[in-house]
Amino acid sequence: MAKRKIGFIGLGIMGRPMSKHLLNAGYELVVHDVNREAVADVVAAGAEEAKSSKEAAEKSSLIISMLPDSPDVEAVALGVEGIIEGVSEGDIYVDMSTIAPSVAVEVGEAMAAKGVSCLDAPVSGGDVGAQNAALSIMVGGEQVTFDEVLPVFEVMGKSAVLCGPLGAGQTVKACNQVLVAVTIAGVSEALVLGAKAGVDPLKIVQVLSGGLARCGILENRGERMVNGDFDPGFRIRLHYKDLNIIMKTSNDYQAPLPVTSIVHELFNTAMSKDRGELDHSGLLTVIEDLACIEARTKEAE
Ligand code: NAD
Repeated sequence: MAKRKIGFIGLGIMGRPMSKHLLNAGYELVVHDVNREAVADVVAAGAEEAKSSKEAAEKSSLIISMLPDSPDVEAVALGVEGIIEGVSEGDIYVDMSTIAPSVAVEVGEAMAAKGVSCLDAPVSGGDVGAQNAALSIMVGGEQVTFDEVLPVFEVMGKSAVLCGPLGAGQTVKACNQVLVAVTIAGVSEALVLGAKAGVDPLKIVQVLSGGLARCGILENRGERMVNGDFDPGFRIRLHYKDLNIIMKTSNDYQAPLPVTSIVHELFNTAMSKDRGELDHSGLLTVIEDLACIEARTKEAE
């Protein structure tokens, strides 16, 4: 099948490198963002500019968005001058932002009424994964649509898995964010307990990394947490946004998440302390505050 021309909307930390991989792979791209500098950069790399999401949709037959949050996707997809005003029957719309599963379904239903097939395809792997085309992509939607878009996913990621019907990609992403948030909180508590009891926290990271407690957070962030290095990475404010989605989803499905709800409040505390721009492993500073460990908290601010 001939390569579809792609409309790419949202050229931020993630979308910008992802769109450039598509250009490098030979896809024709028309791009839109409210940030002029981001558009100019991707246009300089070979893309065409669209002045609105509607225009990006008019000029392409596969539209991809990578936006911050659910309200942004609703506005870009369904709002005035939005994608829905520019699509034609047979187009495909793939939203790769992390948003509420219910919003993915709502947008998909509105697009289906116009003859447009949708996939929700959030990612994990962070900014480094986006830059290295090594994202893990979790997809919801129809098999036939997934099969057609798979070569495009393969340009941006190292794996793409169809998880179920529309919304299932966002549900799996929510599960991922539950586990990562709870793990960060657990690692933080372990490090604070050990440090207050007088053990070198670096030793704790080394020893735990070799046993049953080993995990991605210890592996990728353990040493940096001990050193008080909270340069993002994935920011606390974005993980807090995801936890808000998760708590709403847990209410929607009456799936109580007692542990996650406490971690949600810890992220809320980090936000209230104006630490939203720290890497999410900076949640450690909140646990340190509770234990009256002051030195590293000051460093972080
Ligand atoms: P970002 O804020 O860097 O980029 C979002 C882009 O969308 C910005 O360039 C912004 O100008 C643009 N935008 C916002 N509203 C718009 C509108 N109405 N019309 C056109 N453009 C608009 O965010 P990001 O870090 O690239 O994250 C994007 C999504 O990916 C989020 O949902 C995030 O949770 C998810 N995600 C991020 C990471 C990460 O490490 N940054 C990892 C996995 C998933």
